[in-house]
Amino acid sequence: MTDFQKPASGQVLVKAEGVRKSYGQLEVLKGIDLEVRTGEVFCLVGPSGSGKSTFLRCINHLEKINAGRLSVDGNLVGYREKGGRLYELKDSEVALQRRDIGMVFQRFNLFPHMTALENIIEAPVQVKGTARAAAKERARELLARVGLADKADSYPAQLSGGQQQRVAIARALAMEPKLMLFDEPTSALDPELVGDVLDVMRQLAQDGMTMIVVTHEMAFAREVGDALVFMDGGVVVESGHPRDVLTNPQHDRTKAFLSRVL
Ligand code: ADP
Ligand code: MG
Repeated sequence: MTDFQKPASGQVLVKAEGVRKSYGQLEVLKGIDLEVRTGEVFCLVGPSGSGKSTFLRCINHLEKINAGRLSVDGNLVGYREKGGRLYELKDSEVALQRRDIGMVFQRFNLFPHMTALENIIEAPVQVKGTARAAAKERARELLARVGLADKADSYPAQLSGGQQQRVAIARALAMEPKLMLFDEPTSALDPELVGDVLDVMRQLAQDGMTMIVVTHEMAFAREVGDALVFMDGGVVVESGHPRDVLTNPQHDRTKAFLSRVL
């Protein structure tokens, strides 16, 4: 339980309008429109190859969109608009935008030669210039928050996949992001380790973090999600409250997908 009150309808934090992305000849995102509001847990589901990861990567500057508009907190991702024209941001400006976004991948990709604590303090110290002592104190709080207070000095190889993923979440949180992106964070885990990671995400949601979650965990989406988009073939097929979409899908493609994963 938490005494935190989620805003009933927050500000629009992420806005996509006609977002298109191609890799060479292959168009992967074919005009994505969606809005994610502050404090929302926004679930992105769909079959493999539908463009979910690509969309997250566009938000986080790992890919550039080819057309449309994509903004986070009112700022175009990677561009500045002036006099009706778009100008690419400088690397230093892109870095500033990226600081506000945390991302957790399917593979935990912690730095293998650093302890859990060192992994967590790396970005605050190197990117933000936080003093080591303060960063360490905060890292210990974050480790406690993800249930790993006793693992500060463990190396990734000494941790289970679920523990590594929780360190990865703590590492992302250390930058105090206003948005967290999760790309199938539990897909690579043994089934018995999934619950602990979802519990951390559930807690984060209760604390009011805005989260975009790509997942096949439909029970999580139904329980924790505020909005759900079903994507297929680079388009949004349908969207709505997770309970509605999951219990009463309107499109055949959604029905077919859900019958496979539910
Ligand atoms: P999802 O996450 O929904 O499974 P992805 O966004 O990973 O989908 O991929 C969508 C499509 O784009 C797939 O056909 C995939 O093969 C292709 N794709 C993804 N990344 C690249 C890349 N870097 N270069 C070329 N094709 C890519
Ligand atoms: Mg993917």
